[in-house]
Amino acid sequence: MLDDERRRLVMDVTAERIGEASLRYGVPLAVIPVTFDLFGVSAGMYRSAGRQTVIRYNPLIFSRYFEENLRDTVPHEVAHYVVDKLYGRRGVRPHGCQWQAVMTDFGVTPLVRHDWNLEGLGIRRQRRFAYRCGCGRHDVTAVRHNRMRKRGVVYRCRRCGEALRPID
Ligand SMILES: [Zn+2]
Ligand SMILES: [Zn+2]
Repeated sequence: MLDDERRRLVMDVTAERIGEASLRYGVPLAVIPVTFDLFGVSAGMYRSAGRQTVIRYNPLIFSRYFEENLRDTVPHEVAHYVVDKLYGRRGVRPHGCQWQAVMTDFGVTPLVRHDWNLEGLGIRRQRRFAYRCGCGRHDVTAVRHNRMRKRGVVYRCRRCGEALRPID
């Protein structure tokens, strides 16, 4: 698991990246709470709902690939926060050009996926199915996939409102 010392380092680097972006773009960006309560296949998640804004990290994935996550996942999630504050969410794709530009300014390759070996960490890798909407791609869980395919349930993209349709 991820010990306190490394957690503190992750929090420090997160705050540093936020400060760096605040200076570069000339906007005040508060240091937001960081939690280590994300489990599953994602290494990090930025979430903003109402007044609650938080970056969540996956302690299992960080414990195995610490340096890589410090280098990639921390700026990745901070870039989501920066884009949210600079542009809002209307018409902005999560990993679109604004997010990629912030990553590039951070000096980090704007990768969305990593080929990390998560075996033995107790993480169940769920099979995902590729769907698309009017604004991008969605990776859908098997449960949702079956609901759409077998029961005709319609899921809509929260950003563009279009019904999801399979890519293949
Ligand atoms: Zn992301
Ligand atoms: Zn959409």
